Amino acid sequence: MKTETLAPGSVIGILGGGQLGRMTALAAASLGYRTHAFCPDADSPLTQVTDRSTRSSYTDRSALAHFASAVDVVTFEFENIPADAVAYLETLVPVRPTTQALRICQDRLAEKQFVRSVGIATADYAAVPTHESLEAAVSAVGLPAILKTTHLGYDGKGQARIDTAEDCAPAVERIGRAPAILESFVAFDRELSVIAARDVAGNVVAYPAVQNEHANHVLATTTAPAPIDPAVAKAAGDIAVRLADSLAIVGLLSVEMFMTRSGGLLVNELAPRPHNSGHWTIDACATSQFEQFVRAITGLPLAPIGRHADAVMTNLLGDEVLDWPALAADPGAKLHLYGKAEPRPGRKMGHVTSLKPLPQQP
Ligand code: AMP
Repeated sequence: MKTETLAPGSVIGILGGGQLGRMTALAAASLGYRTHAFCPDADSPLTQVTDRSTRSSYTDRSALAHFASAVDVVTFEFENIPADAVAYLETLVPVRPTTQALRICQDRLAEKQFVRSVGIATADYAAVPTHESLEAAVSAVGLPAILKTTHLGYDGKGQARIDTAEDCAPAVERIGRAPAILESFVAFDRELSVIAARDVAGNVVAYPAVQNEHANHVLATTTAPAPIDPAVAKAAGDIAVRLADSLAIVGLLSVEMFMTRSGGLLVNELAPRPHNSGHWTIDACATSQFEQFVRAITGLPLAPIGRHADAVMTNLLGDEVLDWPALAADPGAKLHLYGKAEPRPGRKMGHVTSLKPLPQQP
C-alpha cells in the first residue's frame, strides 16, 4: 500500500460525478494532481473537467479493480456509494476517508449512536427497524417528530413529519416502509454547520461555523461566518474537530447542527466529504475546503484557512440558473456553474457568492 505523500502527477480516484467532485478535481489540478472519476453517469459535472473516467455501476467488481489499478488514492464525493464497493477498493488502494467512517455517516442510526458515544448531543431519537416499532418509538421520543430512513436520505428525501398519532401510518408509507429512525422535532433557533479538515498526521483545522437556510429541505443560502455568539461558534468548531478526530477522518468532515434558543448545539448530520455549506471558502478563504480536502487525502499538510472576507453563498436551484447573464455581469457576485444541462426543479445548478472583504490588518 502506498502511504507516503503523493507527488504531483499522482492520480486521485473519485467515486461519484457531481459538483463536489468537479470542484475537488479543479483544486487537485491546481496542485498538479490528476483525477479519475468513477460514476455511472455520462457527461457528469466531474467528467467534464477530468481527462480520465470510468463509467460503470458501483457494483461492478472488475471495473472497480481496474479503477484501483489506475489511481493512487480513492475518495468519494457523496456518501450514498455502496459501502461494500468502497470496502473492496480499500483492499486494493488507500481509501480516504475510510470505509468505516463512510459506513457510520451513511446510516442515520449509527451516526447518532456514534455522536452520542463521544459525548456530543443530538435530538432525542429511537430506532424504528420495522414499521411495527413506530408506536413504541413515538412513546419514547414524543411528538412532534420526524421519521427518517436510516439509509439513502438527503435533502429531506426519505423523511416524514409526524405531529399526531394519525400521521404515523401515512409517514410509514411516505418513507416506503424502510428501516428508519424517529427523531424528536427540534424547535431550533438556526441551523449551523462546520467543516473540519484532518490530515494524515492527525492535524485538524475547522472552518468558521456558518449559518444555513433551507428552502424545501434543500440548502438555499449560507452566511459565513454565522452571526452568533463567539462562544457558541467556538463550541461548534470544537464539536467538529472532536468528531473528525474520533472518526479518524483523513479528508473532510462536515457537521450540520441545530442551535437552540439557549445556544445549545445538537448534531443533526455528518458528511465525510466537502459540503455545499463550504462553497463560500473558494472565494473568501486563502485555502478552500476543496484544496484542504485534496491536501489531506494526498498526504500534504493542511494550509492556513486565511479567511479574507465575510460571505453569503446562494445556491442556484433549477431555473434560477437562467439568471446567469446578470449574475456573470454583477461585479459583486462570484458565479460558479456546474455544467448541468437540465435545470430540473430543485436541482443544484450552480452557486453564487457575494463577499464583504475584511478590513486590512495593520
Ligand atoms: P437532514 O436530511 O437530516 O439534513 O434534514 C433536512 C432538514 O430538515 C434539516 O436541515 C432541517 O431543516 C430539517 N430537520 C431535520 N431533522 C430535524 C429535526 N429533528 N427537527 C427539526 N428539523 C429537522
